[in-house]
Amino acid sequence: MSPESLARTVARDRRPEPASGADASRFVNAWVEEEALDGERVRAFVLILRTRGCYWADQKGCSMCGYARDTLGRSASPAELAQQLGRALGRYHDEPYVKLYTSGSFLDDREVDPGSREAIVRAFGGRARRLLFETLPEFAVEGALRPLREAFAGELEVALGLETTDPVVLARYVHKNAPPSEYLAAAGRVRAAGAKAKAYLLLKPPYLTESEAIADVVRSVGEAAASFDALSVNPVHIQGGTVVEWLYRRGRYRPPWLWSIVEALRAGAAVRGASRLVSFPTAGGLPRGPHNCGRCDAEVLAAIEEASLDQRFERLDGLDCPCRESWAAGCRFEPLGVEA
Ligand code: SF4
Ligand SMILES: [Zn+2]
Repeated sequence: MSPESLARTVARDRRPEPASGADASRFVNAWVEEEALDGERVRAFVLILRTRGCYWADQKGCSMCGYARDTLGRSASPAELAQQLGRALGRYHDEPYVKLYTSGSFLDDREVDPGSREAIVRAFGGRARRLLFETLPEFAVEGALRPLREAFAGELEVALGLETTDPVVLARYVHKNAPPSEYLAAAGRVRAAGAKAKAYLLLKPPYLTESEAIADVVRSVGEAAASFDALSVNPVHIQGGTVVEWLYRRGRYRPPWLWSIVEALRAGAAVRGASRLVSFPTAGGLPRGPHNCGRCDAEVLAAIEEASLDQRFERLDGLDCPCRESWAAGCRFEPLGVEA
C-alpha cells in the first residue's frame, strides 16, 4: 500500500459515527498537572472538549494523530458545549494556568462556534492567569483572536502544531496540511494580537532514523525560536488508528528513546534563544511511548520534567545507564529508522 492510500484508509477507519446528545454533553477528559508560569511552579488545569474534531483528520490526518477517535463525528451545538463547560467548571479549582484542547482547532468555527469560544474563555477570566488553546494556523487570524483577547483578562497563549521546520518532513512524513512557513506566519499574527505563541515540535516522525529525528528537532528549535515564546518537544507515542500504529504493529517503528529527548533538549537549549524549551512526554516509559530500557526510565523522565520546569538543562548532563550505549550505537548504525 502506498503511504498516501495508507493514510486515507486509516483516516476513514478511525472516524466515529455521529454521537448522541448524551455523549455530546460530556467533555473528553480533564486533569491537573504541574507547569511553570513566570518562573513559578503552578498547577495547570487541562480540559479536552468533545467537538467535531480536526477537519484535516477526516481528509488524511497526520501520521501520528489519533485524536479523531475522541470526537463527535458531527459538530457540537452551543448548548452541548455549554453543558461540557458547566461540567468542567465543577472540576476547576482556580488553577492559574488553563489549557484547552478540542482534538483539533479551538478557532475552527465548525468545532467551537465564536459565541461558545467567547463564553468558554470568559468563564476562566479573573480566575486563571494564562489560558492556552491550540489551533491550526489558517484559523489564527485577527478576527478570531481579538474577541478572545477582549474576553479574557489574563494572558492568552496560542499553541501551533508546527512539528518541524523541514517542509519535506512535514508534508511527506507527518502529513500536515500546510508548510512550516504558514505556522511561522501564524505565530506572527498571534503575537501581533497580543498573545503568546507556542510551538509543538514532533520528535521522531515515521521514516526518520533516531539520529535524523534528533537533528530535525534541534534544527527546528533554532529556526523557530525567534517566532515563538515557547517550544515543546513532543516525542511520538503510538495512538490508535494512526499510520504510526500501522507501522509499529508490523515492527517498522520504535517510539523514540528517552535518551533522544535528553539529547534534543541539551542541543536545543544552545539554540533556543529567549524562548522556553520544554518536554513533557506522554506515555513516557511505556512500550507505546518514548522509553529506554525500563530500569532508568523513571529517573530520566523525572530529569526531563525538572529541566523543562526550571530551564536548567545541566540537570540532564549526569544521567547514565548501560542502555545509553545501545541507544548511541543505534544512532550510529541504524540503517532505516527501523527496529524489530
Ligand atoms: S495533529 Fe493536529 S492537524 Fe494533524 S490531524 Fe491531529 S489535530 Fe489535525
Ligand atoms: Zn536504561
